Amino acid sequence: NEKPSALIMIFGATGDLANRKLFPSLYRLFEKGNLSENFAVIGVARRSLSNEQFQENVKNSVQSVASNSNNIDEFASHFYYHSHDVTDSDSYVALREMAVQLDEQYQTKGNRIFYLAMAPEFFGSIATHLNEDGLTNVQGFKRLVIEKPFGHDLKSAKELNNQIRTAFSEDEIYRIDHYLGKEMVRNIEVIRFANAIFEPLWNNRYISNIQVTSSETLGVEERGRYYENSGALRDMVQNHMLQMVALLAMEPPIKLNTEEIRSEKVKVLRAMRSIKDDKVDKYFVRGQYGEGILNGQKVSAYRDEQMVDPQSNTETFVAGKLLIDNFRWAGVPFYIRTGKRMKSKSTKIVIQFKDIPMNLYYKTEQTLNPNLLVIHIQPEEGITLHLNAQKTGNHMNATPVKLSYSNTGIDGINTPEAYEKLLYDCMRGDATNFTHWDEVALSWSFVDNISQHWQQTQTHFPNYESGSAGPKDSDVLLARDGFFWWPIG
Ligand code: NAD
Repeated sequence: NEKPSALIMIFGATGDLANRKLFPSLYRLFEKGNLSENFAVIGVARRSLSNEQFQENVKNSVQSVASNSNNIDEFASHFYYHSHDVTDSDSYVALREMAVQLDEQYQTKGNRIFYLAMAPEFFGSIATHLNEDGLTNVQGFKRLVIEKPFGHDLKSAKELNNQIRTAFSEDEIYRIDHYLGKEMVRNIEVIRFANAIFEPLWNNRYISNIQVTSSETLGVEERGRYYENSGALRDMVQNHMLQMVALLAMEPPIKLNTEEIRSEKVKVLRAMRSIKDDKVDKYFVRGQYGEGILNGQKVSAYRDEQMVDPQSNTETFVAGKLLIDNFRWAGVPFYIRTGKRMKSKSTKIVIQFKDIPMNLYYKTEQTLNPNLLVIHIQPEEGITLHLNAQKTGNHMNATPVKLSYSNTGIDGINTPEAYEKLLYDCMRGDATNFTHWDEVALSWSFVDNISQHWQQTQTHFPNYESGSAGPKDSDVLLARDGFFWWPIG
């Protein structure tokens, strides 16, 4: 396998994402020998920095993941800096000249990756300039990596897409959803399609409901300004939550390649029942955290956070019931739930199987626990299968037992960062774990119906305490169907 060579331009190279994720991920690829020597990075940002200063930043950022500090200098020597306001047309020409020179110096085969790690309002104009000023005129491949959020609603997402499509074709666009870089999200497909015992049961005859929860303990922190315009629905549901649902619900693809997998995911999103107007209140619950106690500390309400409107109606919690109207899933609710300032940090999927036709253990045990398959996404990574069995000494008694597989070591440091995998995929030209425009468009049209209804109706915020499992109505949502949420964490 040939190692990828490329010139990588990172727009927003002095930012948080570049420093916390991108430089360390590139370093790990370098250290493992997954990057060829023929790579160079141009960091672009507004601040004026020399190459040396930029390389110092890079070294500092990779220090914590470096097992061997001897190669850090060599790694950092591949980094160059270009100070440039991305709204200023003139300096793209200088950037192009720098790129041409580095292409030559590092023998990158004319391959270029443009990584937009900046505020989304710049995405469209950067792409336009890259095209107009000839930076996308390459000998090898050209790829655009673009961070979330991809638009604010369907309309703005379309505008953005049209802008970037002037410079890149759909198969050159890598829209990041970092959940798709997570080990256990990638594992959904393997668990489903590599095991004879699950796929035959993976349908409405044997599954009663599926629950996808992604809870955080953090509040909005310093991101108030962004979050006020976004909220949990746009920030989490439109992308990460619906992506996980699509992977859980899709039909087995003909082959495990990008095109086939994406097309199966698109079909799920097309089959998702659209929920609008008054129906929204029956299927979706929104919440906003009030003050409360978390890890023994008093924490403040969302409305008291920095850069947040004291009357804010932005939701920090969403729970919803999704229905997928196809043969496989008719009648099986997919419940999703995500929120900030909840009692623990956890992303997991619970697949609850239907009860067996009759309970032979009724004399000793009132009810049998249903079989559950739990996929732990983070912070724990692994799978747990909940069964009933007889424990020693418990004659003729069915007791719950768990079969567990843990993907991480005790300290959990061996899990490769999602960004490392995604960057590597992009360099190798594998777009499977990036979102296709069709997925983005379908997710936005689903989510837009909900946000429109919410905009027109009143909230009763705050409606959940920090450190809780979310608003009461979220429990009611499942109780109406005779279910309950399996515990968070
Ligand atoms: P940041 O504010 O820390 O960094 C922004 C960068 O853009 C800085 O390097 C700044 O110099 C540069 N910049 C701003 N205006 C510029 C201009 N006019 N010309 C040139 N450079 C300019 O932001 P971030 O947290 O790194 O996030 C970047 C993107 O990644 C955003 O789209 C964000 O939503 C997304 N994202 C970030 C994270 C994260 O962990 N930080 C996670 C997921 C997605």
